[in-house]
Amino acid sequence: MARHLITSAIPYINGIKHLGNLVGSQLPADLYARYLRARGHEVLFLCATDEHGTPAELAAAKAGKPVADYCAEMHAVQAEIARGFDLSFDHFGRSSSAENRALTQSFAKRLADQGLIREVVEKQMYSVVDGRFLPDRYIEGTCPNCGFESARGDQCDNCTKQLDPVDLINPRSTVSGSTELELRDTKHLYLRQSEMKGALSEWIESKADWPILTTSIAKKWLNDGDGLQDRGITRDLKWGVPAQFEGAPWAGMEGKVFYVWFDAPIEYIACAQEWAAATGGDWERWWRTDKGAEDVTYTQFMGKDNVPFHTLSFPATILGSDEPWKLVDYIKSFNYLNYDGGQFSTSRGRGVFMDQALGLLPADYWRWWLLSHAPESSDAEFTWENFQQSANKDLADVLGNLVSRVTKFCRSKFGEVVPEGGDWGVAEDALIAEIEGRLRAYEGFMEAMEVRKAAIELRSIWVAGNEYLQAAAPWTVVKTDPAQAAAQIRLALNLIRIYAVISQPFIPAAAASMMAGMKTDDWTWPTDVRAALGALPVGHVFEVPEVLFRKITDEERVDWAARFAGVRD
Ligand SMILES: [Zn+2]
Repeated sequence: MARHLITSAIPYINGIKHLGNLVGSQLPADLYARYLRARGHEVLFLCATDEHGTPAELAAAKAGKPVADYCAEMHAVQAEIARGFDLSFDHFGRSSSAENRALTQSFAKRLADQGLIREVVEKQMYSVVDGRFLPDRYIEGTCPNCGFESARGDQCDNCTKQLDPVDLINPRSTVSGSTELELRDTKHLYLRQSEMKGALSEWIESKADWPILTTSIAKKWLNDGDGLQDRGITRDLKWGVPAQFEGAPWAGMEGKVFYVWFDAPIEYIACAQEWAAATGGDWERWWRTDKGAEDVTYTQFMGKDNVPFHTLSFPATILGSDEPWKLVDYIKSFNYLNYDGGQFSTSRGRGVFMDQALGLLPADYWRWWLLSHAPESSDAEFTWENFQQSANKDLADVLGNLVSRVTKFCRSKFGEVVPEGGDWGVAEDALIAEIEGRLRAYEGFMEAMEVRKAAIELRSIWVAGNEYLQAAAPWTVVKTDPAQAAAQIRLALNLIRIYAVISQPFIPAAAASMMAGMKTDDWTWPTDVRAALGALPVGHVFEVPEVLFRKITDEERVDWAARFAGVRD
C-alpha cells in the first residue's frame, strides 16, 4: 500500500469561509484522503489556519482583542466548523505555532547561507495619517497593467498581475482612505527567485500530468514580462514570525516579520511537526526524503488564486534550501464557485457561509452538491434551484429511497434479517456486471481526482441498483415466488453495504447510518462485487435505518434564497 501526504490550502484566520472556499480546497482534499484510506493506503491529511499578517491584526483590533487571543478563538471556531463538515484532517494546525516560527526562521537562514537572500533598502509607502507603513493589501489604486481602479498593492484582481504598491497609480490607504502617503526608507529581505528560475522551470516542465489550470498559471508567472522576480519576504508588521532572531545572518531587521506568504506554506511542514507532537507520530518520514519520505506521494489542493505561491514561491523555498525536503508531486487546483448570479461576498452578506450551511442542513447535503458540482474545468455556480433538485433527486429519491424501500419491505415480509432462499439469475448477473464496470471507472476518476466525473459514476451506481429493483419488483414477486423475492432482497441489502463503503468519501454521515442500519462494521472495499454481495450472509440481522435524506421543500428554497441574497451591487 502506498503512502500519501495530502494538504489543503490553509484558510486565513480572519472570519468564516463560504462554500466556494470549502469546495476549492478542503472538501476535495477530504474526499481524496477518505478514498485513499478506504483503499487501505496510509494517509497523512493536514490543514491549518493561516494566522499572520495585517488582516488578522486589524480584525483583532476591531474585535477589541489581542491578536493572539483573537487567532486562538477563530482557530477554535474554524476547527469546530471543519468537524461539522466531517473534514477528516489528521491535524488542523496553526501557522502561528512555535514549530512554524522555528522552521520559518531556519529556512530563511538556510536560504541566506545558499546566497539566495539579499537585503534591500527600499522605499515603502508610509501613511502619515495612519502612522504606519502600509502593507500591500492596504493600499489600493489603479492597475498600471490593465487600468482597473481597485487594484490591491500586491495583486490586481482584474488581470491577476502581481504588483508592488509603488506601481499603483493614485494610491490610497484602505485603512483610512487617506492619500497622504509618502515613501520612506525601510530594509527588507528578498528571496532571489530569479536565481531559481531555471530550476523551477525545469521542475514545472517535468509535470506533464498536472492540470493545465495549474501549469499554465505557473508558466505565465515564470515567463511573462521580465519573468520571475525576486520577492520581498519581510514586512513592517508586529504580528508574525520575527525576521530578527538569534543566529540570523543579518542585522537591523528588528520590528519586522516574515511576510505571511513566506511562512504560511512552511506551515504544511510545521503542521506535521505539530501532529507528531500531539500524537507521537514521526513527521520526518512524511517530509524528509533522507528519513523515509522518498516513497511518499504528496498532493496539494487549492483554488486557482493560490497556484503561483504553490508552484513557484514555496518550491523556491524548498529547492533553494538544498535540503532533502519532499516536493509536491501533484497540485489539484480549482476554479471559482459563484453564488446565484454573482460572487460570494462577506462584506455584502451574499451567499452561504460554512456555519450558516450547517444550520440549515447536515453536512452531507452540502458535500454532495459541492463535490458533484466542483469547479474543475471552469467556474461553477450555486443556485438554490439546482441545490434543491440535486439533493432531492440524487440523495432522497435515488439513494435514500432505495435504502428505505428495501429495508422496510424486508422487515414486513421476512423480518429484520437477511432472508434465505432463491437464486440469482440473468438480471442479477447484468447488475453485477454493470456495477463492476462503473466501480472500476469510479476508482479511476477518484485516483485521478476527477471529482465531478467520480460523482457522476457514483450516482450511476446508485441508479443501477434502483433500476434493478424497479424491474425485479420483489414486492410483486413475493406474492407468487417468495424465494425469488428473498434472493432479490438479499442482494439489495448487500448492495446497501456496498453503497455505504463506496459513497463514504462523499457522504460520510449517511454512509455511517447505512452501516449502522446493516449492523456491520465491514468497510472492505468491494473489489470483487459478486463476492461483496455475500458479505451480509443469510440470517444476518439488521434494522431499518432512520430516513437518510429528507426532501428540501419549495418553501425552504424560496426562504433561503431570500435570506442569503445579501445586498446586490
Ligand atoms: Zn490589472
